[in-house]
Amino acid sequence: LQRLLESLKGQPNITKDGKSIRIYCNIGSPEDVHAVQVNDGGGIGLFRSEFLYLNCDDYPTEDQQFEAYKQVLSDMEDKEVIIRTCDIGADKQIGYFNLPKEDNPAMGMRALRISLTRPDFFRTQLRALFRASAFGKLGIMFPMVTSVWEVREAKKLCEEVKRELKAEGIPYSEDVQIGIMIETPAAAIMSDRLAKEVDFFSCGTNDLTQYTLACDRQNNDLGRFYDPHHPAVLRLLQMVVENAHKNGIWVGICGELGADLTLTETFLAIGIDELSVSPRAVLPLRNAVRMTDTRESSARILDALNNEYQAT
Ligand code: PEP
Ligand code: MG
Repeated sequence: LQRLLESLKGQPNITKDGKSIRIYCNIGSPEDVHAVQVNDGGGIGLFRSEFLYLNCDDYPTEDQQFEAYKQVLSDMEDKEVIIRTCDIGADKQIGYFNLPKEDNPAMGMRALRISLTRPDFFRTQLRALFRASAFGKLGIMFPMVTSVWEVREAKKLCEEVKRELKAEGIPYSEDVQIGIMIETPAAAIMSDRLAKEVDFFSCGTNDLTQYTLACDRQNNDLGRFYDPHHPAVLRLLQMVVENAHKNGIWVGICGELGADLTLTETFLAIGIDELSVSPRAVLPLRNAVRMTDTRESSARILDALNNEYQAT
């Protein structure tokens, strides 16, 4: 098997009937880029920026953030790198954030909610991101979106930051793609409207499963009740793809489910454009894509999804 996977390096992610899909990687720090390159990842679909905030005892400065983003963008050369803005919350306690204790941290002050509540903090991260955009092909992605207004407010801050940089004579790219994570049922349900605001969607199936099924993703006792194969989750994904494509934007999956080979055919059938997975999952996934013939499977899968999809 190892030999087969080795032989797939440099090969396209294309089905027997010629459908292609992009396979990108999830990373958590600049050191992970090496694994992306070794495994022939097509880009980075999710760079979790939390490491910058977790490994220190005060807010990382704009320059510290800039250096980390710049390193990843330059190492990835002309390949796309999607960096997610800070996704901490009351579950990840960081002393210097002084987050109040909450009874339900998963439904509390986290991710984009913190960024919009503390615009100066957000602005620092956005300035670092736009400065780094001059060194590669950057996408910026906002986590835990539920409403159109949140996205508009975040985009407005991006515009302000760009104006500032321009006035200061600091270079940045005008081609930064702006996207959002679809990881709440609200975002999935509103995806027709949200698609008009952004350049791409990336579905966070870890949280989407948690919030759709009302199942704490950290509670292992829930066992089979936390089931990302639940038809409710898959139907939401299908709806999100339809709404994205109707509006001419692409849609990926960056939650764990993207690497689930029992669903690769389903993702191809519903039209997912990109799967972002851990670097070691790239070649097994490429193999699964290349073994698939969607002429044989699409109708059956879409039918199953809309009738009585059997969770495995
Ligand atoms: C997700 O929720 O699926 C996701 C990719 O984000 P995280 O696991 O970092 O919450
Ligand atoms: Mg998430």
